Amino acid sequence: MYEKEKQQLINTALEMLHYQLIALTGGNVSLRLEDGTFLVTPSAMRYETMQPDDIVRVDSEGRTIEGTRRPTSDLSALLYIYRRRPEINAIIHTHQPYATAAGLIGDSLPACLTTIIDTNFADVPVAPFTVSSDEGMGVLTMEYGLESYAVILKNHGVIGMGTTLDEALETVVYLEEGAKCYLAARSAGSVALLTPEQIAAECAPSDNYGQ
Ligand SMILES: [Zn+2]
Repeated sequence: MYEKEKQQLINTALEMLHYQLIALTGGNVSLRLEDGTFLVTPSAMRYETMQPDDIVRVDSEGRTIEGTRRPTSDLSALLYIYRRRPEINAIIHTHQPYATAAGLIGDSLPACLTTIIDTNFADVPVAPFTVSSDEGMGVLTMEYGLESYAVILKNHGVIGMGTTLDEALETVVYLEEGAKCYLAARSAGSVALLTPEQIAAECAPSDNYGQ
């Protein structure tokens, strides 16, 4: 079941590799399905050779319904986030270096670029360190980013969220681009921040973007 969606998970994981948001088997991709179950990538498997049969379908308690692989070790954290954010249907967890580096030097990544504002609408919060593969990672993600579409996990990586896989992918890709630019600017001098009014103006919907 859900062959198309399983392939979408793999395609999204390959995009994570393409944009250098992870290395080897790092990170994970997950999707909430219409019937309330979830598709998740398997633990510690290379994405380049991943097949739809490798994707695991689990119920809301994390029990495997379909698939023979062990699900991602972050499953309990992901399910915690899905429970707290009913409007979120897709989560991408990455170890993207620039956003993670920004999290090592501050408690938030300022919304100082249009790409960050357009995808996250606000500063990107940094959740304090917690061990990975534990529900606590999800608890801290929601404690610091209950209204955010991206949360930087200090000393670890990033959680990107969206109503669709494409939206979650846009969040993490634009976050990485923004973090790279922010760090380059910081290493060269002081950063030009935006005022709350400027951020609000950028957040206002535009009817001349997109097809
Ligand atoms: Zn991780």
